[in-house]
Amino acid sequence: MIALDNVTLTFPDGAGRLTALDRVSLTAAPGTVTGITGPSGSGKSSLLAVAATLIRPDSGGVRIGDVDASTLSRSESAALRRSSIGIVFQQPNLLPSLTAREQLLVMNELGERGSRGRRRDVSDRADELLDAVGLAEHRAKRPHQLSGGQRQRVNIARALLNGPSALLVDEPTSALDQERGAAIIELVLRLSKELATATLLVTHDLTHLPSLHSSVQLVDGRLAQLQS
Ligand code: ATP
Ligand code: MG
Repeated sequence: MIALDNVTLTFPDGAGRLTALDRVSLTAAPGTVTGITGPSGSGKSSLLAVAATLIRPDSGGVRIGDVDASTLSRSESAALRRSSIGIVFQQPNLLPSLTAREQLLVMNELGERGSRGRRRDVSDRADELLDAVGLAEHRAKRPHQLSGGQRQRVNIARALLNGPSALLVDEPTSALDQERGAAIIELVLRLSKELATATLLVTHDLTHLPSLHSSVQLVDGRLAQLQS
């Protein structure tokens, strides 16, 4: 479960403040994908950053699962992100020298020094996820040997490695053609359901919205009725 309650976020802007999110409330249930759309600059990425506990809002509540994230310290938020939150940025940010499989494992190595048993677990899970995103045969390839869509699949598999209760995905299809974009949306829907993950997915492409469980639109930082 992801729940934002009356969230307001401002940034410094010259002498004043710019309101990026204005009293936004939103909940996403486990196993569902909520679409977030809206014009450039309307606050979509800011909303994901708040839900990811990367930015603390000026006011309002943020809950991830049964944790009240608005009261956590920086290190507690970081621990929550490692254990419970998967983040997929628009740019895959894969490390050029690593294979697809290593991209998944390195995150975990950086996060914690697991015991041997746990490491084997993680290694099995990496293989399962690469299989689930259709990359079993490409696991030994490095980013330059993968297509844009395949890189985005690695990115999604990496975000899901720790079995997060919340998944936040920013514009996963913007660099892809319509067909590959639709396949990525299908993948996010399937994995969110299978892993009972509450997912927020930002997209400019309105054709993807009908397949999602619900959708909202941001306009100038405010939730607005979706035009259909
Ligand atoms: P896009 O579709 O172009 O990605 P967006 O809807 O994701 O846009 P945001 O990135 O959330 O928009 O930005 C919302 C507003 O907040 C914009 O006016 C932006 O300039 C401002 N903003 C975002 N991040 C910062 C920051 N770190 N410092 C100052 N202003 C920011
Ligand atoms: Mg954005």
